[in-house]
Amino acid sequence: MEYKEIIYKTPVKEGLINHDKTYRDFEWKAVLDHFECFSNNEVNIAHEAIDKHATTNGKNKNALIWEDENGRQKEYTFQSIKRQSDKFANVLKNIGIEKGDRVFLFLPRIPELYIGIIALAKVGAIAGPLFSAFGPEAVKDRLLDCKAKAIITTPDLNQRVCEIKEQLPTLKHTILVDSGNTLEEGEVSYASEMNKASESYKMRWVDPEDYLYILYTSGTTGKPKGVTHAHNDMISQYLTTKWVLDLREDDVYWCTADPGWVTGTVYGIWGPWLNGVSQVVYDGRFDTEKWYSIIEKQKVTVWYTAPTALRMLMKAGVKAARNYDLSSLRYICSVGEPLNPEVIKWGIEVYGLTIHDNWWQTETGSIMIANYPSLPVKPGSMGKPFPGICAKIIDAKGKELPPGQHGLLALKRGWPSMMREIWGNRDKFDEYFRVSDWFATGDTAYVDDDGYFWFVGRADDVINTAGHRVGPFEVESALVEHDAIAEAGVIGKPDTERGEIIKAFVVLGQGHQPSDSLRDDIKGFVKNRLAAHAYPREIEFIESVPKTRSGKIMRRVLKARELGLPTGDLSTLEEE
Ligand code: ATP
Ligand code: MG
Repeated sequence: MEYKEIIYKTPVKEGLINHDKTYRDFEWKAVLDHFECFSNNEVNIAHEAIDKHATTNGKNKNALIWEDENGRQKEYTFQSIKRQSDKFANVLKNIGIEKGDRVFLFLPRIPELYIGIIALAKVGAIAGPLFSAFGPEAVKDRLLDCKAKAIITTPDLNQRVCEIKEQLPTLKHTILVDSGNTLEEGEVSYASEMNKASESYKMRWVDPEDYLYILYTSGTTGKPKGVTHAHNDMISQYLTTKWVLDLREDDVYWCTADPGWVTGTVYGIWGPWLNGVSQVVYDGRFDTEKWYSIIEKQKVTVWYTAPTALRMLMKAGVKAARNYDLSSLRYICSVGEPLNPEVIKWGIEVYGLTIHDNWWQTETGSIMIANYPSLPVKPGSMGKPFPGICAKIIDAKGKELPPGQHGLLALKRGWPSMMREIWGNRDKFDEYFRVSDWFATGDTAYVDDDGYFWFVGRADDVINTAGHRVGPFEVESALVEHDAIAEAGVIGKPDTERGEIIKAFVVLGQGHQPSDSLRDDIKGFVKNRLAAHAYPREIEFIESVPKTRSGKIMRRVLKARELGLPTGDLSTLEEE
């Protein structure tokens, strides 16, 4: 579904001024000049992201502007993040954390989470950020899988860790933030260890290939995989943040993602700080009023969020947005799921800005395909590959397909932030390269004549109805255009006659009631927008769509429920 009629372009004077030209001439090698420590292959991302800025005129600039749901606020300069992370690196060393150890952070989005991640990089350990909403089983699965040595958590969340501790023989240390006086064996208090720790820390230089973080995928399609990334990722993280998110020195940037999801780690910690930019962190749930008030109060200029949040803001209506002064915003990006053209249209109307969609995965470590400020946007398209990234559409045998044909989205191996390992699972890693030497993303897409990429669906989600292949996204996008519909999830349901039929699960907006006539109206509405075979023959009204904690629709859960099959790993499911 191409909305060719609206094409927008944001004027740019800095950053990526001409995508197509830069793409043709680009070499990763040239990016190394930006970094201070690549010369003799001794690096540390923490030096480039924090320490470097803490010793220049950026030292008194805010790195972190933090607030939580209860209105508590704190600000940290680059210099104070350096100091705190140096101290915490000493704490980690003192308790015996060494290079290569896996240390998990099971924390709300409090400043210690950010300080902890920097400190772990400083000692060469591998950080594993976890969503604080995870239950004991989800925590256990991840710690067990990569044999974690330590966990940093709060006394509250530690209750969940205690439930599973006995099953984790390698877990030696628990560092408790905000703990009282009673500590069990193996537990230490963050505050008292920090009080004792020296402020002077000598950076542990590492090889660019040494590991930096491990993150388990969102679990949208199955059991989460332990994707492992190296310090070398900083090359891609730095440049994609600069050119896709368009960050500049004086920006106030807000990434709404939790570091438990790769977006929150790469673009909610490393990317902006590698660019020396001030960032806002809000530790709280989604709330329309709260979110708008943060933009107004902090004068956020660049905002990186996800379609699910944007759809909720859209549902809250134009009036909610008009109650706040959002004029500081100059650039908005979205990631994680397809961005419905309807949302882009709404963004233009309400924020006066085009929302720029971009595509990547936990495995790719940085944005791969994007809309850039200098490039006209075709709403519904993910945009064009980032300079240095070669993307193509292939068939099951690895043959490249011409523009317009649906196939597998594949990337040429070897960009700086490509995952280095699926933890301890070589076979799983090799599966990504099974079709050819190209990295198979598991997503279906097509490219148009202008070189723009269009997402069709997860390869597993694509519906085959009477010989036609239909991506659930295009049906969902048409559905959410209907006035009565707030959200929609679409699956293929086995059918003797057609192979599969399209079934839609829809959540109605406020003031709308389920009825047979509404059902017929919705069917007619979609029929008018899409090809005749692509309308949902079945529609079910539901209260909410099952989603991951990163806000992705879990179609496999809808399907399993529909067919009465086991739902599989639900560790990342957001409570409904
Ligand atoms: P799992 O691999 O465990 O099933 P996941 O794929 O959802 O989970 P992530 O790595 O967080 O885990 O998500 C990457 C996927 O998200 C992509 O493969 C793609 O399907 C989807 N995605 C990300 N950004 C976009 C986008 N802009 N448009 C469409 N889909 C997107
Ligand atoms: Mg995936």
